[in-house]
Amino acid sequence: MTTREEIEILVVEDEEPIRRGLCDVLAYHGYKPLGVENGEEGLREGLTNRFALILLDIMLPGLSGFEVCEGIRQKHPHQLIIMLTARGSEEDVLTGFRVGADDYVTKPFSVAELVARVEALLRRSGRMRREEQTAFRFADWEIDPANLEAVKGEVKVELSAREVSILALFLREQGRIVSRRMLLQEIWEVPDPDRIETRTVDMQLAKLRKKLNHDETQLIETVRGAGYRFAE
Ligand code: CA
Repeated sequence: MTTREEIEILVVEDEEPIRRGLCDVLAYHGYKPLGVENGEEGLREGLTNRFALILLDIMLPGLSGFEVCEGIRQKHPHQLIIMLTARGSEEDVLTGFRVGADDYVTKPFSVAELVARVEALLRRSGRMRREEQTAFRFADWEIDPANLEAVKGEVKVELSAREVSILALFLREQGRIVSRRMLLQEIWEVPDPDRIETRTVDMQLAKLRKKLNHDETQLIETVRGAGYRFAE
């Protein structure tokens, strides 16, 4: 049985106070962090494939975080990678997703946010039991997971279980960019998202939009080259 002490996390961050802070937070939460300060070391350690997850800064001396991510991803498609991006730099988030990052955390981040992202990604990859789904609001729709339907006033639309899961995910990730990779991992539960046509995701999203968009507003916007975002 794996104990939490054995969950190793690699932290690639050149700024010493941030690196130490990250390692301290992770150790406090029961993980076993290893901090390295440049891209070369990050790539070398990352390629050993012994880390449950890698926190990867973008601006690094030598190899950039993007290059490190790409290098690791080529060898290890399942490696979990969270990029550390600057707040407001959507371009970094998009590039991160393009080179294979699973998720991102914007700097400066709160400890709570960071730990939440780390735990969510580990949980997702571990295929943990899904949380019970209770009714929730999505924009002006009332989503009823038990009866698989969306209700708005007099209008009632049937949903599939997968569509309900997609809406729940977008609600949870409200305002954040959700990559196709994340959707494939979490909704389709494919272990290796790179082998699946991302068109599968796009087609499902198009269908879902059509069902809910009877007033023509785009509830879920497409973020070019990256994925989708629900920003109400
Ligand atoms: Ca940096």
